[in-house]
Amino acid sequence: MTLRVRPVMHLIDGQLEGDESSFNVVNPSTGHACATCPEASRDQLNRAVVAARRAQPQWAATTPTERRELLCRLAGVLRENQAELAALITLEQGKPLARALDEVQRAAAQIERLTSIVLEKELLRNDSTGRVELHFRPLGVVGAITPWNMPIVLAVPKITHALYTGNTIVLKPSPYTPLATLRLGELARYVFPRGVLNVLAGGNEFGQWMSEHTGLDKISFTGSVATGKRVMASAAVNLKRLTLELGGNDAAIVLDDADLKTAIPKIFAAAFANSGQVCMAIKRLYVQDKVYEQVCHALAELAGSARVGDGFEPDVQFGPVQNRPQYEIVKGILEDVARDRARILAGGHALDRAGYFIAPTVVADITEGTRLVDEEPFGPVLPILRFKEVEDAVRRANDTCFGLGGSVWSRDIDRAASIAARLEAGVSWVNHHTGADALVPFGGAKESGIGREYGKEGLRQYMETVSVFIPPDR
Ligand code: NAD
Repeated sequence: MTLRVRPVMHLIDGQLEGDESSFNVVNPSTGHACATCPEASRDQLNRAVVAARRAQPQWAATTPTERRELLCRLAGVLRENQAELAALITLEQGKPLARALDEVQRAAAQIERLTSIVLEKELLRNDSTGRVELHFRPLGVVGAITPWNMPIVLAVPKITHALYTGNTIVLKPSPYTPLATLRLGELARYVFPRGVLNVLAGGNEFGQWMSEHTGLDKISFTGSVATGKRVMASAAVNLKRLTLELGGNDAAIVLDDADLKTAIPKIFAAAFANSGQVCMAIKRLYVQDKVYEQVCHALAELAGSARVGDGFEPDVQFGPVQNRPQYEIVKGILEDVARDRARILAGGHALDRAGYFIAPTVVADITEGTRLVDEEPFGPVLPILRFKEVEDAVRRANDTCFGLGGSVWSRDIDRAASIAARLEAGVSWVNHHTGADALVPFGGAKESGIGREYGKEGLRQYMETVSVFIPPDR
């Protein structure tokens, strides 16, 4: 499909700005440039930060109800423009159009759920010695940096957390997928007062300028562990508050009493959704001896019959890997798998067509100590590991620097829940894997992140906690 992309612009202080400088955006389904995107300069960043600082006190003086109203208007804007935004996501990110539509709709719903949380002070103590209250004050200006796997559903919650809590924001999407996010900024131009929401496209260097900018009070970053560490180092310059939502290498443990009929399609979806490019996808599947072969073959069958293609083609289940460097990483991992003599049950190769397509791949008889198991592949490749004793599975699942999510699958819910509670992760599930609920904190343990997004806990990380001691009434 040929989609005419109208030029997108940065949103700075309520004005749309183009640029002398620009870069190409590549459609991963063809490998060819599909649009150009303006590239913001350091001067434009400085102006966006100044505008956000100027707008912040007045924005913070509005009530949470007023801010909720405007944010819900943004949810309406997302829904009214979902067809255009979804088409941009499919064009630049590659996912099937139906999944892109779902992404926009989920983003709109997240706004409504997150802003349904009541922001109020908390009473800690009230006795003869007096009252102690916790008050929450906005931090100031938030810098938000997002990755390429889910451009809209990762950007919109950052806008919501920041604005609902009385901060203003400067947002930068990934240079691989800037179009839908810049378009969102354009559409939101008249929703918020000038300077409250600023959206600028730029490369990795632009992200670094943000991380070290002393005019920003917090960085909310979603991306890889390696970049997260760089952000943390740069942010030290003014001790910025940080939320880091980083990579994962989630383990799922399938016990031999699991209900495989319902588990297998769910596991397949949780491993291969968005062609494996989901932070909390299942990336290591541990299966108990007795059901190992059955699980392997059922998943291989689903992978082998999956429809892979350009996200604009009808009935496509999975799109390409989003960019060439990531495509090369996944292909390198597949070469290692072949060299390690693991058993490839489905896929194992790139598709013979233009674009960055990898056949959904299921690998059995593989162990720790291989790249596929130890690293985050972030592509459509699932290793299946065998275990006999549950203790062994838990130890191996936890033997990683990652700690985003994990799951346990069994008919015995209580037993599964007690095993799931031992996974060293920020989120765990029983008979399920993936999915974020705006009312529930989400984030990583260990090197998968710092802090949480969503829920009251997530909102509070966009605010300073102030302890207020009040003497008793006379
Ligand atoms: P990435 O770290 O390469 O890039 C993410 C963003 O950081 C981009 O906007 C990029 O331009 C910017 N950036 C690059 N260098 C920077 C620097 N020095 N300072 C500041 N910003 C910089 O990540 P990616 O490849 O775009 O995304 C994939 C990764 O994101 C995977 O590891 C995935 O697991 C992770 N992810 C995590 C979550 C989560 O919620 N935990 C969600 C989605 C993706």
